[in-house]
Amino acid sequence: MSIKDALKKVQDSLLENVTLVAVSKTHAADVVMQAYDEGVRVFGENKVQEMCAKAEVMPSDIEWHLIGHLQSNKIKYIAPFVSMIQSVDSMALLEKINAAAVKCGRVIDCLLEVHIASEESKYGLTIGEAREIALSPSLKEMKGVRVRGLMTMATFTDDVEQISREFTTVKNLYEELKESNEDFDTLSMGMSGDYEIAMQCGSTMVRVGSSIFGARDYSVK
Ligand SMILES: *Cc1c(COP(=O)(O)O)cnc(C)c1O
Repeated sequence: MSIKDALKKVQDSLLENVTLVAVSKTHAADVVMQAYDEGVRVFGENKVQEMCAKAEVMPSDIEWHLIGHLQSNKIKYIAPFVSMIQSVDSMALLEKINAAAVKCGRVIDCLLEVHIASEESKYGLTIGEAREIALSPSLKEMKGVRVRGLMTMATFTDDVEQISREFTTVKNLYEELKESNEDFDTLSMGMSGDYEIAMQCGSTMVRVGSSIFGARDYSVK
C-alpha cells in the first residue's frame, strides 16, 4: 500500500478530536514528505539527532514531537523548534527543558511519560511520580514549559484486556490530574498495534508509525 493510502486508512479510523502524530523515525525525509504532502503537519521522532536532521531539510510549519528518551545534554539542540516533548520522565528533566526554553524565549509543551507496561523499562514515571510532578506548585513558576498531560505505552501483547486495563489506568490518572491542572488537555496513548483500543479508552492523541510508513528497517542505520 502507498503511504498516501495507508495514511488515509489511519485517518479514516480516527475518532473525533483525536490528533494523529505520524511517527517518522528511521524513515528518510523524502519518504516522510509523502505524508506532509497529504497534509500531515505533526511528526514524532524518538532521537534528537534524527529530528534535527529532518527539521533542517523539511518545511518549517511542521510540529515536531519528541517521543523518545531525552538526555538533558541534548535539550539545547531541539529547544529552539520542538513543539512538544512527550517523554518527560523526571522533575529534573522538566526543569532543564524549562531553562532551555526560557533561553530561547519559548514555551515548550510537555507530556509526562507514565510507565505502565509490564515490560521492564528504565524510562517513565510511576503513577505516584507523575501525580507528584503534575500537582507540584513549582510548575506555575516554570514559564518555559506547559505540562499538557500524559503519554504512555501499553504492554506489547495480544491480550486486549490487559492493554485496555493499562490504558484505562492512565486515563483515570489523567482525569484525576485534570481536575487540578488546567493545562491538561492531552492524553497520548496508542501506536499502530493498539491505537484503536487506546481511543476506546479515551486517548486524545495517537502516535502511529508503521501503519503509515511501513515496517522500520533498523539494519540500514
Ligand atoms: C516508535 C514509537 C511509536 C510508533 O510505533 P508504531 O508501532 O510504528 O506505530 C509510538 N510511540 C513511541 C513512543 C515510539 O517509540
